[in-house]
Amino acid sequence: MQALVLEEKGVLSLRDIDPPLTVGPDDVKIAIHTVGICGSDVHYYTHGRIGPFVLREPMILGHEAAGTVVEVGSAVKHLNVGDRVCMEPGVPNLSSRASKLGLYNVDPDVRFWATPPVHGVLAPFAVHPAAFTYKLPDSVSFAEGAMVEPFAIGMQAATRARIQPGDVAAVIGCGPIGIMVALAALAAGCSRVFISDLSSEKLAVAEQYPGILPVNIRERPFAEVIAEATGGWGADVVFEASGSPRAFDGLFDLVRPGGAVVLVGLPVEKVSFDVAGAISKEVRIETVFRYANIFDRALELIASGKVDLKPLISGTYDFTEAIAAFERAAAGKASDVKLQIRLADGP
Ligand SMILES: [Zn+2]
Repeated sequence: MQALVLEEKGVLSLRDIDPPLTVGPDDVKIAIHTVGICGSDVHYYTHGRIGPFVLREPMILGHEAAGTVVEVGSAVKHLNVGDRVCMEPGVPNLSSRASKLGLYNVDPDVRFWATPPVHGVLAPFAVHPAAFTYKLPDSVSFAEGAMVEPFAIGMQAATRARIQPGDVAAVIGCGPIGIMVALAALAAGCSRVFISDLSSEKLAVAEQYPGILPVNIRERPFAEVIAEATGGWGADVVFEASGSPRAFDGLFDLVRPGGAVVLVGLPVEKVSFDVAGAISKEVRIETVFRYANIFDRALELIASGKVDLKPLISGTYDFTEAIAAFERAAAGKASDVKLQIRLADGP
């Protein structure tokens, strides 16, 4: 089958490749319809590695996917041929200690699509465990189904934050993940979500959602805006979604006494932060690594209409144009949130 293959750093090709597609008793085979391009796909393309994960042989890219079930393993009960689905790209060892604790996202043995040496799904077909394959409600399109994966990170962040109704949140960084975090925080009950960035184009995308309040830190310090908005008290929850070391300077000026700071962005290098600033407010610090037990609830929110991810799809490319889509993604246009590639016809 033809797939989008990252041959080596900087070299993509659309070519034949035949990874095994054996359907085990607990698996389903999926005809892939739509795949979103993630920052990690682009990073493997431009750098050939992310931290310890190094591309050593050609790998199919793509992990944000939706499609149609075309074959069902003998032991699969909850899915049928013809079901429209989206897939959770990380597959843990379900017998592991982490999985037994419900923390399967941090199972050291997790195999994640398009993370070397595991192939991704920018290909006509994929085989996946049914347990990590989720039926799309009728009202949810394939394009929205392929947005569930990045939205799940926002949902995991909102879950870790333990948001209470009426909380005021501050999100640092208005990239795709920052926006997902802001939307999930609103859906979780926040009254207002402030989001900061240096780019007015990025902030303009977030601003179209009622309840999300953009702050351009070229114009005013974020802490000043948060202090003014909360009578000097601070935000109940602060999400760090930029990964920028500079975000850690004054991080605890944003949060109220006893509030929470949730770390979502991944700085490339080690960063130092103000421990005394955190302790003096008894701040609760949480971290987010992907997600666990989130996809069902993300789909419920999208189907209910409470979360609309469609405005975040900035461009859709045919599979034959997949390399052009990656080149646009690598160019990093500020107003682009999510680019998607379609491998099949129909909505
Ligand atoms: Zn992703």
